Amino acid sequence: MAGTPAASAVPAGNGGGRRPASTDRPASSVGAARSLRISRTAQADCAVHGIRAVPHDESMSAVGAIPTCCGAGGSTMRVLAVGAHPDDIELGCGGALLAHRARGDEVTLLVMTTGEQGPQDARSRIGEQEDAAELLGADLRWGGFDDCAVPTDRSAVTVVQDAIDASGADIVYTHAPLDTHQDHRATAAAVRAAARRARRVLLYESPTTTSFDPVVYIDVATLVEAKLDLLRAHMSQVLKNGLVDLEAVEAQARYHGFRGRMRNAEAFEAERFVWDLGAAEPAAPVVAAAVAGPLVPQAAATVVVPRTRRP
Ligand SMILES: [Zn+2]
Repeated sequence: MAGTPAASAVPAGNGGGRRPASTDRPASSVGAARSLRISRTAQADCAVHGIRAVPHDESMSAVGAIPTCCGAGGSTMRVLAVGAHPDDIELGCGGALLAHRARGDEVTLLVMTTGEQGPQDARSRIGEQEDAAELLGADLRWGGFDDCAVPTDRSAVTVVQDAIDASGADIVYTHAPLDTHQDHRATAAAVRAAARRARRVLLYESPTTTSFDPVVYIDVATLVEAKLDLLRAHMSQVLKNGLVDLEAVEAQARYHGFRGRMRNAEAFEAERFVWDLGAAEPAAPVVAAAVAGPLVPQAAATVVVPRTRRP
């Protein structure tokens, strides 16, 4: 979540890039969530392709035995999630990222500031974000900007563009644009510009979002508790920031699940979302293709494809 301006000096940014020098890691932020660690090699066997996975570790008890070879039928993806402050990404799309990791997708986090203006100093928040990334099995990059001062010029766009290029992202998640915090708005604008050629850009909700009209729902049925564990890695915010409310996060997942016609969901606005259904030819004048998988656009659970070829 967002920091609030304070009179204290702002520590220097981290210069943009991966894993800044850190940190004092608060032990309280680590232990509670250790049980959900998602190893980069933790996979389940793929029943579709008959591929045997590496031995499971404790992560699978948390996220369920989800085939990682092909997930719900598609190839693995490279995912970039961008947030203004430590914990923004986990609040907004932590469940979706857990689902991506469980199917074998590569996930990179880009956090634009260290949140040093919030109710904990920067060193602790860096450590908390590193712990959350480690639990998720994600790479972590820092934007290097000052908290509450994410710029609206090309420097922020360049940082995001570099992260897109380095991660090779197939899909980008970031803040929804209508938000009371200037860092959230600036980050959303930078991603929108940097990802102008990306085929999938989904926008997540924050506690400070002022208007949100989701159209894409991702099923996080079994991942809500694991998402809460990711947030517990940001223990300073759970304890001191009233906007990081785990009960509200749980209720939000149920509410979005109801709206998305499932048990628990995370919901997203779509800057752009290209849905690749493959190149299969229609076998009948109309083909009703039941959609399986974790990415379920609202009101599009069935696609009707008219015949386009003459007999
Ligand atoms: Zn924030």
